[in-house]
Amino acid sequence: MHAISNDEPGRIAALQRYEILDTPVEGAFDKVTNLVRALFGVPISAVSLIDKDRQWFKSIAGLDVSATPRSIAFCDHTIRQDEPLVITDAREDPRFRDNPLVTGDPGIRSYAGVPLRTPDGYNIGSLCAIDTRARDFPPEQMEILKGLAPIVVEQMELRLLAERDHLSGALTRRAFVAEIDKRIALFVRHQRPAALILLDIDRFKRINDSYGHPVGDRVIEAVAARCASLSRPSDSLGRIGGEEFGLLLPETSEADALAAARRFCAAIEDLCIPHDPPLRVTASFGVAAIGPGRMTSHDWLATADAALYAAKRNGRNRAVLAPIEAIRAA
Ligand code: GH3
Ligand code: MG
Ligand code: MG
Repeated sequence: MHAISNDEPGRIAALQRYEILDTPVEGAFDKVTNLVRALFGVPISAVSLIDKDRQWFKSIAGLDVSATPRSIAFCDHTIRQDEPLVITDAREDPRFRDNPLVTGDPGIRSYAGVPLRTPDGYNIGSLCAIDTRARDFPPEQMEILKGLAPIVVEQMELRLLAERDHLSGALTRRAFVAEIDKRIALFVRHQRPAALILLDIDRFKRINDSYGHPVGDRVIEAVAARCASLSRPSDSLGRIGGEEFGLLLPETSEADALAAARRFCAAIEDLCIPHDPPLRVTASFGVAAIGPGRMTSHDWLATADAALYAAKRNGRNRAVLAPIEAIRAA
């Protein structure tokens, strides 16, 4: 099947449907890029996704960047064709010889990329191998690279279907939003109360910066486990973003939800995460009961998020209830 060309809005929409841009590292994609490095004996391999103005790497082995401008991306050329793009010497290629990735760091000399094509025919990115010396990419190995690209797309499809986040065990954002929608339907039909709590770990970036990403992951796991152990079986815990979680509390009033958020807040402050030195964190909370102005998952989440933002502004490590006034403003 040929890729759909000349439909950039459709291509971007196809990419956005995967809800993968700016998500954390995932082992399945890193396994593929490591395999590609071994296959060709190249220093660099990436799963590159071509967003509107940038290429963003879901996985990149051998280089410490998360994105580059689209204008200099080799992979942006790959997605414009059906067949793999192979560059044996970028210095000899008028399209690339002045490219800053060739003239400067990391000094790309050769490149092989296979488009990542969605089942509906959009090239959303590429799986590529990059070398810092001029070289050929033998046809047999190119066949393997061509075979790996659809596996990457399948993995993207599978992660979208996943109900649970593998790191924290919490519901994925999508599954959590589905739970919110169900609660809204129950409220509309039977006026059943419910409350939403959003929490975001405070100054989390410092933990990553000081101790590294794997330690950051352990902190996220510990916070999620603490929330799960404190919640009732009927509650849902969802991972909304990197270090942000949601709790959906059915049959819970605004006042009870605020009290619950304060308990969670105190429990996280008490957490002592095994490490040398042991790590302590706090989190900020936004609470919003269901009600007028909160009758779509988007609006309800936005209301709780505004309260969470207020908690951050007011000094962090606290819970803030979304006031009725804020609803009208929202
Ligand atoms: P604030 O109190 O305002 O929330 O500050 P913050 O540092 O927590 O917020 P910021 O949004 O600046 O940084 C969040 C960091 O969380 C940035 C991102 O790299 C990191 N992060 C997101 N997801 C993950 C993950 O899955 N694992 C790890 N280790 N870090 C993650
Ligand atoms: Mg944070
Ligand atoms: Mg955050």
